[in-house]
Amino acid sequence: MKSMKDVRPIQMGLNSRFKFKCYPGISCFTECCGRIDIALTPYDIIRIKQRLGMRSDEFLRTYTRMEIDEKSGLPLVYLLMPAENNHKCAFVTPEGCTIYSDRPCACRYYPIGQATLQREEGLEGIEEFYFLIKEPYCKGHEEATEWTVASWRVDQEPDLYDEMNREWKAMMLRRDSNARQAVDEKKQQLFYLASYDLDNFRRFVFESRFLEIFDVDPQTQAAIREDDIALMKFAFNYLKYLLVIEQSLTVRPQSQPAQPAA
Ligand code: SF4
Ligand code: SF4
Repeated sequence: MKSMKDVRPIQMGLNSRFKFKCYPGISCFTECCGRIDIALTPYDIIRIKQRLGMRSDEFLRTYTRMEIDEKSGLPLVYLLMPAENNHKCAFVTPEGCTIYSDRPCACRYYPIGQATLQREEGLEGIEEFYFLIKEPYCKGHEEATEWTVASWRVDQEPDLYDEMNREWKAMMLRRDSNARQAVDEKKQQLFYLASYDLDNFRRFVFESRFLEIFDVDPQTQAAIREDDIALMKFAFNYLKYLLVIEQSLTVRPQSQPAQPAA
């Protein structure tokens, strides 16, 4: 299986130009929706699970696979492209993507890839840059329509995704630079739970000793009970605490950290 990791990137800024057009009827239509590694962010998963009306664990079990990232030691989740489906994404049909308006951020950007660097501490220290992915089978690069990265972004609408993903990516980068501290299996499980399996993370918060241990104000509790985005942002704080990146949660006096609910 090829991967975006195997493609040599040509670095681009927002004003960089490229020629490209993708449309139903092009000879390679949907070729790019198979045999590729598409990593999902927590926000990608919220959008798709809500679109499908599924719980997070059901979505993860049905449509994803997990790998431990060598560099960070943390679990990453990828869209499943099973051999029995000819290594194609489950959401592709001859007419195109069936979850198009909720497709993952990586699919929105394609054939642009996005990478993130941490120049300085904090969200302001993050630098995002872009690169062009030129797969030999993709005929869109032979079309005459000209874009800049900025106009492509307007067309594909990744802004909300970028906003939602930034804090999580920054945390991954800080974990990368702190990778001397090994992540044990328990922390990997908790990272998976809080990043990807949000419905069970909600159970963990409300049905374990979590709230006896961490001091979470009533307004936050009310928000995270109902709202997946509020829960995701709260989970980012928990992850920063878990990975010893930041003292982002307040521990009640004489408490021990919670373990996941059985
Ligand atoms: S033109 Fe490229 S992006 Fe569009 S369907 Fe073909 S392979 Fe995919
Ligand atoms: S989610 Fe949609 S756009 Fe992305 S690989 Fe699957 S079918 Fe293609």
